[in-house]
Amino acid sequence: MTDPIPAPVSGSESGRPPNLLLVVADDHAANAVGCYGGPHRVTPQIDRIAAEGIRFDACGCTNSLCSPSRAAILTGTYNHVNGVTTLSTEFDARQPVFPGLLREAGYRTALIGKWHLGHGVHDPRGFDHWEVLPDQGAYHDPEFLTMDGGSQRRRGYATDLITDLSLDWLRHHQGAHPAAPWCLLVQHKAPHRPWQPAARHADLFDDVALDVPPTFFDDYRHRASAARNARMRVARDLNAEDLKAEPPAGLDPTAYAHWAYRRYLLDYLRCVVAVDEGVGRLLDHLDATGQAEETVVAYTSDQGFFLGEHGWYDKRFMYTESLQMPFVLRYPRLVELGSVSDALVLNVDIAQTVLDLAGVEAHPRMQGRSMVPLLTGDTAEQAGWRTSAYYRYWEHLDGIHRVAAHRGVRTRDRKLVHYYGSGCGQPGASAEETPPEWELFDLDRDPQEMHSVHDDPAYADDLSTLRAELDRLAVELGDEIPSKAQSNRYGER
Ligand code: CA
Repeated sequence: MTDPIPAPVSGSESGRPPNLLLVVADDHAANAVGCYGGPHRVTPQIDRIAAEGIRFDACGCTNSLCSPSRAAILTGTYNHVNGVTTLSTEFDARQPVFPGLLREAGYRTALIGKWHLGHGVHDPRGFDHWEVLPDQGAYHDPEFLTMDGGSQRRRGYATDLITDLSLDWLRHHQGAHPAAPWCLLVQHKAPHRPWQPAARHADLFDDVALDVPPTFFDDYRHRASAARNARMRVARDLNAEDLKAEPPAGLDPTAYAHWAYRRYLLDYLRCVVAVDEGVGRLLDHLDATGQAEETVVAYTSDQGFFLGEHGWYDKRFMYTESLQMPFVLRYPRLVELGSVSDALVLNVDIAQTVLDLAGVEAHPRMQGRSMVPLLTGDTAEQAGWRTSAYYRYWEHLDGIHRVAAHRGVRTRDRKLVHYYGSGCGQPGASAEETPPEWELFDLDRDPQEMHSVHDDPAYADDLSTLRAELDRLAVELGDEIPSKAQSNRYGER
């Protein structure tokens, strides 16, 4: 289960390194990306990237939260290394980031859209150009911060404006630096809460029938109390700003739950549609300018999201809907059309993958590995890929969602989760302690993670192997093992 950092390999055979277009959405669940086969197939343009390239079916984040995952993507490091463990820990922008390494190697680099890693001394570095939303930013007529320390309010819809500004920069680049390869990060605010669609999409899907997911009325039995205690239930915790309407009079609790789910999900999907349209405009631009063959295009999200599964919205948990990042990539020079990989790839692998494709050496502190062997057709086994992946969520009992801090390890068919019971002094974490608890899931028999088998003697060997693997990974990656790790109450044997 070792995970060596490989030597860089050039992904280009024509001399000139490829251009790199990375589109990162915010909270875009795989269940709302058509090519993932989920129930909400509203992304023909993103699906085009997968059809013309590769789809990763088991891409995971290492901490299902916005800023931490963005920091992991940029630096190729886990959050205990890059320091962005919660939403309250700003980014030390002096850290090596892959766009900065590309820039040193001759690339022109730009970042447009959501940053949310702090401002001032935390502003983006490593870019020839950036224009970002302040903090979470606004959906309508948003303010953008500019490199000269100023700001500008732009009229329009954030998703469209981020695409417009990205296309502007690409056109500028082509005029000013036609010989230099480019790297552009397009980072959307959408479809993040509070899910405000563009005016043109306000009535989209109004006539579509929606079923709640099979686990929508989860009773949270057979798992740690963390699931039951989380405050992110569609039927209880969405507020007036989220729902944007008063419920009809006289709804019983079940009817209200269905009503709230529909309000939530339709606005979410409408926001996704605008993102997908933006992706289409970028792909069209590459076609129109003859750059499609020489450009790596990747689409991902900072983490997954619950679309009513387990009754929830939001993320944070290590459960699949929240853990999984959609990740699709197109690079005609290297990737066969319609490829699929089930390798356990991670957000921390993106930096080294991009650098490898560009033929630029990774920084030694980076902790992921290049996906290039997987892009060129190796199976996970042929590539000697990792067979276990580490996860840690630090933001213990934040003031709103109240999800307990946890760490865990997943393999192809098992997942072990440890709610270790405290915030360990992390900024953004409550000092309140909770009972340490464990969960173990058999993902083959229980892919919806409804029934922990932690206490089932039939899984005793798995449990002991995975507990050892969890600690081994923590040590290998340089993370602490929380002090209450071994003093669990739930399911102690
Ligand atoms: Ca996010």
